[in-house]
Amino acid sequence: MIEDKNQKRTPLSELGEFGLIEHLTKNFKTEQPSSLKGIGDDAAVIDFKDKKTVVSTDLLIEGVHFDLSYVPLKHLGYKAVMVNLSDIYAMNALPTQITVSIAISNRFPLEALEELYEGIALASKLYKVDVIGGDTTTSNKGLTISITALGIADEEEIVYRNGANPGDLLVVTGDVGGAYLGLQVLEREKEVFKVNPNNQPDLSLYTYIIERQLKPESRKDIPPLLKQLEVKPTAMIDISDGLSSEIMHLCKQSNVGCNVYEDKIPLDPQVISTCEEFDINSTTVALSGGEDYELLFTIAQADFPKIKANPHLTIIGHMTEEKEGIHLISRANTKIPLKAQGWNPLKN
Ligand code: ADP
Ligand code: MG
Repeated sequence: MIEDKNQKRTPLSELGEFGLIEHLTKNFKTEQPSSLKGIGDDAAVIDFKDKKTVVSTDLLIEGVHFDLSYVPLKHLGYKAVMVNLSDIYAMNALPTQITVSIAISNRFPLEALEELYEGIALASKLYKVDVIGGDTTTSNKGLTISITALGIADEEEIVYRNGANPGDLLVVTGDVGGAYLGLQVLEREKEVFKVNPNNQPDLSLYTYIIERQLKPESRKDIPPLLKQLEVKPTAMIDISDGLSSEIMHLCKQSNVGCNVYEDKIPLDPQVISTCEEFDINSTTVALSGGEDYELLFTIAQADFPKIKANPHLTIIGHMTEEKEGIHLISRANTKIPLKAQGWNPLKN
């Protein structure tokens, strides 16, 4: 009998904890010169020499941050890495290592974890980060993944959230809103599937936005691009919760206000057409959507000529005195106070 890889279900109890760790991590080799010791001892050993270290952790919980009924485990592993690397790039730093911790219920067979680790391995390879450790434990229910990313930067290159000044230009990379809309399409298909499991959805109209949701890329190209353009942002953040809440973080921490121009916000044509189909406002989606993993930063006005023609960068507004507040300037030229409608777990 030919065994289908997807059908085989090896219970985790067959391997035991150490067997499982060994099995999942045996192919991870360290490539970064700073990784002196990776997986296999009580702790990893890293030597960053004269560089500053940046560290960031994210926690993803099944049923809260992801739904395994439409998120393939390989994609989940990939995205869990991206979410973390994005935070390192948002410091204008270069990620070098990650640790991966998982809590798993016995409902998952070995093959499911292999898939998850395929995604983690692919992301690590493409972004040139070493997997240097982690932890593995059981959970009563569902899957939890926590990844910690480490990175390096020269002290003078690091960009914080609190350096924006009145008059600075507000710049966003790529386009926004796609990941949220991709999720809406996947949620809709899930409902359709519940009613008619034989229905094969045609998702060809939504390839870009579904990819933005399931397989986001973090902007590893931006720190080197900024260096090449000789621009150091005054403040920077990555877009995980939504453009509007990230703008508010920059403003609050920098003690400035902001005017964002509705007609400048970069949207992919698929975002516009899908918003029309779902009858939702594309600006609302762009401002509140989240999970785009683009970078949002401010630059001094004097740097405008250096970035103005760059296809990756869009100027969407400018910072003001704090007392002027944070506003969206609509297409009709009215001033609307910006609210953080981004995803806030404590308010839901
Ligand atoms: P300890 O008992 O000291 O926590 P473990 O047996 O949990 O050690 O881990 C053994 C090695 O495997 C360590 O290097 C640890 O960092 C690594 N490791 C454990 N779980 C994972 C995982 N899920 N992904 C990657 N590395 C892991
Ligand atoms: Mg352990």
